[in-house]
Amino acid sequence: MTAVTDVQDTITSLRREVCDLHAELTRYQLVVWTAGNVSARVPGQELLVIKPSGVSYDALTPQNMVVCDLDGRVVDGDHAPSSDTEAQAYVYRHLPEIGGVVHTHSTYATAWAARAEPIPCVLTMVADEFGGEIPVGPFAIIGDDSIGRGIVETLRGSRSPAVLMQNHGVFTVGASARAAVKAAVMCEDVARTVHLARQLGEPVPIEPAHVDSLHDRYQNVYGQR
Ligand SMILES: [Zn+2]
Repeated sequence: MTAVTDVQDTITSLRREVCDLHAELTRYQLVVWTAGNVSARVPGQELLVIKPSGVSYDALTPQNMVVCDLDGRVVDGDHAPSSDTEAQAYVYRHLPEIGGVVHTHSTYATAWAARAEPIPCVLTMVADEFGGEIPVGPFAIIGDDSIGRGIVETLRGSRSPAVLMQNHGVFTVGASARAAVKAAVMCEDVARTVHLARQLGEPVPIEPAHVDSLHDRYQNVYGQR
């Protein structure tokens, strides 16, 4: 088998994986209409696989996923890529350890983004998954690399795989597209719980030392190895 065939096989399986992961966004009610998307880096290549723009979730297939280079230009695909492709390409260019990016306007998390308020670390689940508060990134307009820059600058200063972009919505990252989807699901869940907690009083912060040990245990020990 030649190297070119290997890359083609990888892209074929990533088209299926990225397509299938969009079903998790609808399953957990993180998206409406055609908003929201998942992308994956093609390992070892300057390429990513992403949702086509404006295609409804029911109509997504592995074949209509779009392959782009890391400047957001289409390399293979019959559709225009998601309007968030440039932002996600920027993330892949600047964070080499990242293998997947997800964007949603999920309701509760986006309500925190509308107030430009970080989600405080008041649940063990926030410490586990996010290692502290979920930070807010700057207000940024679609059309240049300001969204991508805002995501990267905010995430570099945090252990969180999620950023609430002010007045906009959620971007999450992960070692894989699946990990980034998980972070998006968890982000919405804790945004909702902390919102509910605040209706009845002031949630109690977790001590920083406990946040560190919870995060360390969850990232390094928990689960199937
Ligand atoms: Zn958006």
